[in-house]
Amino acid sequence: MEPADAHYRPSLVGTSASIAVRARQLSKIYGTRETRVHALRSVSVDIERGRFTAIMGPSGSGKSTLMHCLAALEPATSGQIWIGRSKITRLNERQLTRLRRDKIGFIFQAYNLIPTLTAVENITLPMDIARRQADPKWLKSVIDTVGLADRLRHRPSQLSGGQQQRVAVARALTSRPDIIFGDEPTGNLDSHAGSRVLSLLRNSVDDLGQTVVLVTHDPTAASYADRVLFMADGSIVDEALTPTTDTIVKCMLHLARGDQRPAVPPARASQGDA
Ligand code: ADP
Ligand code: MG
Repeated sequence: MEPADAHYRPSLVGTSASIAVRARQLSKIYGTRETRVHALRSVSVDIERGRFTAIMGPSGSGKSTLMHCLAALEPATSGQIWIGRSKITRLNERQLTRLRRDKIGFIFQAYNLIPTLTAVENITLPMDIARRQADPKWLKSVIDTVGLADRLRHRPSQLSGGQQQRVAVARALTSRPDIIFGDEPTGNLDSHAGSRVLSLLRNSVDDLGQTVVLVTHDPTAASYADRVLFMADGSIVDEALTPTTDTIVKCMLHLARGDQRPAVPPARASQGDA
């Protein structure tokens, strides 16, 4: 038998400095007794800095649960998570709130904009709450990148769905978070608006060095990523590097037929805990 690491391409291993998020033996169980659901089964994974990672899998496979645990939105039942140097599975609620505020950007399917605030007020809201000043140069480049310079005084109801989601992307980028998590952020958009948002995220990785993790069930959306992790029944069962829509669809068909390639090995489970 080959050693487990033989499945790992050198580009995926990285040094700890190049890892944005690291999870080891992450399990999540919802409910008790008869309502018990094992949403994550000992997931170990490294997410690289400055890369675009997509998490795919059928409905109920654990994509959102994994993202919520990695983003410190939900506690894992067991296992460890590091965001950068912080071991978040050790932090208390106050420290977690600060970590989410300072280190993480979020983009959800619902845009979660405040209806009474203008676009630019929504964009700077998290910084205002944190009593931090957005770097004006950076803010301008973010606004230019998302193409909203002429919509800044509009309220969300005066913007299309795609424009509202671009406000949400700008809001996530403005604080220069270590990592941006998105859960189906293009799920409510038509394909044109969706591809604009995805290109924007892609550019934020290529041009700004942003780290992005996106949950999606759409192969086209996942094709914007550098790496796609495939989940089934609470485990990561496969991955694809620099994927095209075509290779992603093929992987999904393989997995649906049950003829899986070897599961992605636990990412150097014993070595990352130093
Ligand atoms: P996905 O995002 O891939 O559709 P989820 O992570 O949302 O999957 O869900 C994984 C499993 O956990 C599913 O069986 C789901 O029903 C269950 N689950 C998710 N959230 C909860 C919850 N808050 N309470 C109970 N079960 C949950
Ligand atoms: Mg989900």
